[in-house]
Amino acid sequence: MYVTLKEVLKDADQLNMAIGAFNTHNLEMLPAIIKAAEKQKTPVIVQTSCGTANYVGHRNFVAICKSMAEEYGVDVVLHLDHAKDFGEIRKAIRAGYSSVMFDGSSLPFKENILETKQVVNFAKKYGVSVEAELGTVGGTEDGIVVSQDKVYYTDPKNAVKFVAETGIDALAVAIGTNHGQYKSKTNISFDQLKQIKEAVDIPLVIHGGTGVKDDDVKKVIDLGIRKFNVGTELLVGWNRKSKECYDANKENISNRNNVIPCLDKIEEIVSRKINLFKNLSE
Ligand SMILES: [Zn+2]
Repeated sequence: MYVTLKEVLKDADQLNMAIGAFNTHNLEMLPAIIKAAEKQKTPVIVQTSCGTANYVGHRNFVAICKSMAEEYGVDVVLHLDHAKDFGEIRKAIRAGYSSVMFDGSSLPFKENILETKQVVNFAKKYGVSVEAELGTVGGTEDGIVVSQDKVYYTDPKNAVKFVAETGIDALAVAIGTNHGQYKSKTNISFDQLKQIKEAVDIPLVIHGGTGVKDDDVKKVIDLGIRKFNVGTELLVGWNRKSKECYDANKENISNRNNVIPCLDKIEEIVSRKINLFKNLSE
């Protein structure tokens, strides 16, 4: 079924696991993400940046997510990632996205509360879930700097106030991960995460998931992470395989020969990640 973020994260909480949120960077990548989830028998969150949504067309993403959710019997959430502009949020919701992230993390605290609240009020009318961010995750996303020079970890006291005032469904936390990190792995502040989990009672989201060590996945899930974002690994996997295929194949060959190996790569990455996010070793 085509579902909301709130629904899938509630189930994940009961099973002490996380749901993978995979950034699709084009239309072609999308089916591979949903097929991997079908094989792993878990729900999946497909997310797009505003840039990708505008390039592909919001309604095209909505239509394919809905049709594949039905055809493959998978619970699919379509989520808008890191929207900083209320207009982009409205556009995605009206087109049928079932979840949005408003990223007011670079705003002063009070403004972040006010703007997030405005988004929640709008989204609720459509039955759409809202994720918001407090603190700053380092790095860049889709070429856009999503944090300031200085990175602030999420403050647990502020998190309590933020969640209570805004009524959001999920909170993205800053605990040491970085967007775009793939050549190295990060050091997570587990203590910070523990304090946040003890302070608030809603599902927590980790961004920059590509930079998280496999061994740390279980630890952060046990500490309340329910949505695990993966973007860069898919992008790098697609680009590397794509380059290899275009270099190796003749220029008048069907494009399928260059795209299908990339899709296999995406399915392999998504499948491996989902398997980790199930947190089976407990
Ligand atoms: Zn992010």
